[in-house]
Amino acid sequence: MANLKLSHIYKVYENGHKAVNDFSIDIADREFIVFVGPSGCGKSTTLRMIAGLETITAGDMFIGDTLVNDMEPKDRDIAMVFQSYALYPHMTVYENMAFGLRNRKMPENEIKERVMKAAKILDIEDYLERKPKEMSGGQRQRVALGRALVRDPKVFLLDEPLSNLDAKLRAAMRTEITALHKSLQTTFIYVTHDQVEAMTMGTRIVVMKLGYVQQIDTPMNLYNEPYNKFVAGFIGTPQMNFFDVTLKREGDKVIVRFTNNDTIEVPYEKLSKIHHRYLNGDTTVTFGIRPEHIALVDDDRGLKFVVTNVERLGNETIVYGKLGDSLGEFTMKDEGNNIIVKVIDRDDIEVGDVIYADPNPNKVHFFDAQTEVTLMNKIPPYNTIAVKAAGDQAELLGSKVPLPGVFQTAVKGAGEFELSVPPYAIVKGDDFKLKVARIEKVDDQRLAYLEYGDEYLFALVDDEVKEGDGYGFSILNDKVNVLVNDAEVLKAVEEEASLAGRFSKTEVKENGNRVLHFFYNIGDYQLEAAPEQGYKINSIDGDGCYKNTYRYGVPREKIRIVGKDEPGLDAKVKEILDYGNVRYANVEADGQELMIRVEPNFNEPAIRISFDSHDVSVYSTKIDMKIC
Ligand code: ADP
Repeated sequence: MANLKLSHIYKVYENGHKAVNDFSIDIADREFIVFVGPSGCGKSTTLRMIAGLETITAGDMFIGDTLVNDMEPKDRDIAMVFQSYALYPHMTVYENMAFGLRNRKMPENEIKERVMKAAKILDIEDYLERKPKEMSGGQRQRVALGRALVRDPKVFLLDEPLSNLDAKLRAAMRTEITALHKSLQTTFIYVTHDQVEAMTMGTRIVVMKLGYVQQIDTPMNLYNEPYNKFVAGFIGTPQMNFFDVTLKREGDKVIVRFTNNDTIEVPYEKLSKIHHRYLNGDTTVTFGIRPEHIALVDDDRGLKFVVTNVERLGNETIVYGKLGDSLGEFTMKDEGNNIIVKVIDRDDIEVGDVIYADPNPNKVHFFDAQTEVTLMNKIPPYNTIAVKAAGDQAELLGSKVPLPGVFQTAVKGAGEFELSVPPYAIVKGDDFKLKVARIEKVDDQRLAYLEYGDEYLFALVDDEVKEGDGYGFSILNDKVNVLVNDAEVLKAVEEEASLAGRFSKTEVKENGNRVLHFFYNIGDYQLEAAPEQGYKINSIDGDGCYKNTYRYGVPREKIRIVGKDEPGLDAKVKEILDYGNVRYANVEADGQELMIRVEPNFNEPAIRISFDSHDVSVYSTKIDMKIC
């Protein structure tokens, strides 16, 4: 039994190919995790890093509480099952299963006990004296599973174990592996490119593309709430339909207009999390609807299309069509106007029929046309709040508040501007009062719908906030972006300050032993790095590390102002930035500018700053990668 933690894992192969980027996941004991994605997306590489068969370029991996980055595969208590079975052809099934245990010098009677137990579970007791070539593919795969089973590992890793089997056997083995997972009560990590395997077997699924994690979620959440167009298209067969549309809000409904001018309506309440800039009737967005969420109707509701092909599968019928009302010339090219509909109990549809597709408004998806990210995030990424300004006063959300100095400078006297405010930056306070229309639980957070004209603002609130009541709120001004005429004039202050620096080592004799000390150097400020961080940087970049420039990240709240005699970095204060709720000093240190949080009465021309080495994150400047 074991839980596993992968934290910011990267894999860069020796040829420079970046196969896995910033992979993080907490895997609980007994989970069945599936890595899924097209060939080459980094699934096997990640699995092999977990097994210890591939080195981890950067990041930390824990099994239980133990850091295992450098632990030998045999010490990890992990068993791996390969696609190719990897059985020894000259050995019997029994010997194949006993082989690993014999290598570990286990007593012969215990080996026998374990092999017999595994053989019973896998129903291969009658084949123990056979050689692999005398067995079917499915039986061989069971032997491969048996060889892992006898080791009684904490974690099972399975790399496309069923891809050599025919469809029927694959379906049967799928059920058997799921049952095996239930009975063993251990952690399984399973790699496949087959989304049906992923959906049917995983308790959670990691969808990957080109080395990046796209979404980690339960099968049903992936199906119902895909984070982006890739996940939406990858999960589900036939694939989700995608169309270019515009959205226009008209009172309590939103008109979805297709390129051929057909329209459908969706109640605004269902789309209230979509930012209003997508609802103006001229921003193209991607509309997604699954084939099973479209009804076929004969009246002129919805999308008119002509049937190009019908697949009758007995239990269901897949109807293929083309938007419009004529078949036109045949072309294989997908011009973005093809449609697939899955219906049951309809055997009256023929090629050439002109029908209307009526999407279920509860099952619609919308994605940004450029980024392909969903517009229906469970927690909207930001709210837009209009501000009217005059001098040092501002009017927003029906209240008059002082306009912070930083905003005055940024907007350069503009009388109107907008704030982009993430939900976590709207907090209880006394600047304006808003009514809480609704509260929705999102994972372990509470998302409040605050009434704001005819739309909502979204804020994360604590347990004391109740539906239907009004509350006082304030905005964390340093966490917002400021826009004048849609152009960003001020960015939110990032959590982490960034400084460029070098890395060095010294070798000293301590009690007759040579000991290495590693340092982060920013100008002449030298911070001793923890030895493990030092070794990590050294192992990633080799001896080149002492010539490289690194980016050191420090959480801003961890930067202290210290006395002149303490170790630190001298900094000249260039200006004080007044955000209203907080103040920052913009300082220059080692020729680099950075912002530091300061007390309300701060007024020094020059300071010395310091931070602790264990708060420093190190980033490679050669490839975009967090090293430690
Ligand atoms: P998947 O299992 O998702 O098909 P892999 O993890 O096997 O993908 O590979 C991810 C990427 O890394 C691919 O582009 C592959 O070509 C590349 N790759 C795999 N192994 C090596 C290697 N030893 N050296 C260089 N590149 C590799």
